[in-house]
Amino acid sequence: MRSIAVMNQKGGVGKTTSSVNLAAALAREGKRVCLMDLDPQGHASLHLGVEAGPDMPSVYNVFTQQTTLDHARQLIADNLSLVPSNIDLAATEIELAGVQGREFFLRTAMKHWKEHNRFDYVIMDCPPSLGVLTVNALTAASEVLIPLQPHFFALQGLSKLFETAALVTRRLNRELRVSGIMLCLYESGTRLAADVVEDLKQFLRASDGDTPWAKAQIFKTKIRRNIKLAEAPSFGQSVLDYAPGSSGAADYVALSQEVVAMEVAAPATPAAPTTARAA
Ligand code: ADP
Ligand code: MG
Repeated sequence: MRSIAVMNQKGGVGKTTSSVNLAAALAREGKRVCLMDLDPQGHASLHLGVEAGPDMPSVYNVFTQQTTLDHARQLIADNLSLVPSNIDLAATEIELAGVQGREFFLRTAMKHWKEHNRFDYVIMDCPPSLGVLTVNALTAASEVLIPLQPHFFALQGLSKLFETAALVTRRLNRELRVSGIMLCLYESGTRLAADVVEDLKQFLRASDGDTPWAKAQIFKTKIRRNIKLAEAPSFGQSVLDYAPGSSGAADYVALSQEVVAMEVAAPATPAAPTTARAA
């Protein structure tokens, strides 16, 4: 089971669009996929037509240990499940503050999936912050995918993001690797997009080999700006259902094939620490 946190503390860079459409594309390829919405805004859930009202079990109830992931999970399409979220999840940051082992809630909840290889892919759509929800995703994940929007400030904040990943790797989850960086909202032919890719390559080359991002690849597939990607959520559908012939659908299918083909390096130290320490 590959568990992938789609993470960037900036908003509007394509985390949710990528999580939903990558999950949908992988499911179409016959992979068993579970999409987990970890953003209190619930955008990934809404994107798939699910509005988690007060009576619907959501990922918040998993964090409060009132329910299990399997109970909160719902089947959306062939091979595609969703664990929805709603605004209740916003309370988690406060409710878990100071709770011992707060970084491990999700990892613990996912343990039996991992042991039984329940899914081929678990895709976690992270909120735009580096708080306790994102740290839970990183502690439960085997991989991080980072969507970037190629603009002048794209790399600003990236070192903070990498620092967080490194901290989690050292203290909470030695398995974690940043496996890929994808450019979203890409405008081909612009100088800026090419510059960002070049800067990013330099940044990765300059990093030393011990870091969790040492083997990160920049995906060849760039997710082009495409209005169908922005429209699909209001129809409660992935772009593959909403506009199968669009460039957005083609890009996410191509991305999913790269993700499947990706060699995931074996972790240097397989054992994960069992004691909780503050991140
Ligand atoms: P995040 O989850 O990082 O905040 P989103 O995936 O929600 O970012 O994207 C932000 C906005 O940009 C959304 O309105 C989304 O529909 C739109 N969007 C994302 N990717 C594209 C794209 N490639 N082309 C056009 N619009 C996009
Ligand atoms: Mg989002």
